[in-house]
Amino acid sequence: MRTAVVVGGGLGGLAVSGALARSGWQVTLLEQADRIRPEPTAVVLWPNGVRALRALDLGAGLDAVATALPDGGVRRPDGHWLVQPRPVPVERLPVVVHREDLHDALIAGLGDRVELRTGVTVRTVRATPGARPAVGDGRHLYEADLVVAADGVDSVIRRQLAPGANVVSSGCAAWRAVIPWYRAPNLSESVSGEILGAGYRFVAASLGERGSSGASSRGGIYWMATAAGAARPEPPQTQLALLRRWYAGWPGPVEELLAATEPDDLVQQEIRELRPLPKAYGFPLGPGGVVLLGDAAHAMPPHLGQGACLAFEDAATLAVLLRESTLPDAVLAYDRARRPRAAAVVRQTRRMSAVLQTRGRLALRARDVALNTITPRILGTAATVAAQWRLPPP
Ligand SMILES: Cc1cc2nc3c(=O)[nH]c(=O)nc-3n(C[C@H](O)[C@H](O)[C@H](O)COP(=O)(O)OP(=O)(O)OC[C@H]3O[C@@H](n4cnc5c(N)ncnc54)[C@H](O)[C@@H]3O)c2cc1C
Repeated sequence: MRTAVVVGGGLGGLAVSGALARSGWQVTLLEQADRIRPEPTAVVLWPNGVRALRALDLGAGLDAVATALPDGGVRRPDGHWLVQPRPVPVERLPVVVHREDLHDALIAGLGDRVELRTGVTVRTVRATPGARPAVGDGRHLYEADLVVAADGVDSVIRRQLAPGANVVSSGCAAWRAVIPWYRAPNLSESVSGEILGAGYRFVAASLGERGSSGASSRGGIYWMATAAGAARPEPPQTQLALLRRWYAGWPGPVEELLAATEPDDLVQQEIRELRPLPKAYGFPLGPGGVVLLGDAAHAMPPHLGQGACLAFEDAATLAVLLRESTLPDAVLAYDRARRPRAAAVVRQTRRMSAVLQTRGRLALRARDVALNTITPRILGTAATVAAQWRLPPP
């Protein structure tokens, strides 16, 4: 039986572990935390991410917990429409799902062929030509035919195999929250949509009421705010007060949602990305190999909501290639398939970053013009890039 060690129990690591196990691999999943712990936020999955989950046979689990996200358009803080909402066929709509629900669905997909070891921090990777790959935590060496590095933006495996890829700040911080359905404000207008301001962005989506989206147990309203600058060191109460000041006067439902948010709902994160991207995502080693997957391979700012979607694409692509080819060939084919795809999505994301992070009065005026002319095109292109992905033929 072929064996794999997957490092990292985030969305990417869970998805690929289940996929390999369902294809008959013996999988060991190593996670540094003492348990697999999803963030109490939500994630938007574009059609490419949904397609990847379906290819991984996780469609039913997703359908039970996801809520379709109608096109809410894009506005400026003065209410002016940058992109009007359009009717979009349901199969082309993104969905929003609570991360805890998504984790539950991924964990249900692990089956009994995955040995989950928590509290294991991988510190080294053995990538010696001719030998099977292995990772170590200082006490044990975990050897396998395949090592999947799904250990996130700070991946120790990537640092050793692709040291030229640096983790840098994206120049902005993000705040997210899910307001549970029972204390969500009663809104007169649609929740979903995006508002772009000078260095600030606000996105909201309804997760529905409890039970209104099938088996989902976690309804409510999800929002995400990004602001140019560093993460704030103040306690959540002060961060919330700052957010309410920054977004004062923005069109509905921004103020209502910030008013209904409690400090404990708030999740703050400094946004970081890989620059440049790794030169390789696949490293054949003797009869086996190592691959980079998810944020370990292509961490990017969340402006297009594509990080997790790409991690699922990675997992689906790897699973299909491994089914049809020898292991070293599959590792090389994975590299060939995933690098151009990730580079294309990162390119679109960086164009959005450039528009979003303009600061200074003159620059702002230029940015406002740019927002009127470029953003609809960027968003349109980004949506197309996202929708275009198809599972590669084996
Ligand atoms: C504010 C924000 C909003 C976002 N919104 C969206 C969205 O709407 N849609 C979307 O598609 N994407 C979104 N993303 C991106 C998405 O969250 C990530 O791309 C995705 O979660 C990456 O998953 P991952 O499994 O690759 O990495 P991670 O989630 O980082 O998981 C890595 C795992 O590896 C473990 N680990 C790390 N190092 C080691 C080690 N040495 N040994 C053992 N274990 C280790 C970690 O503990 C962790 O569990 C967003 C990101 C942010 C920051």
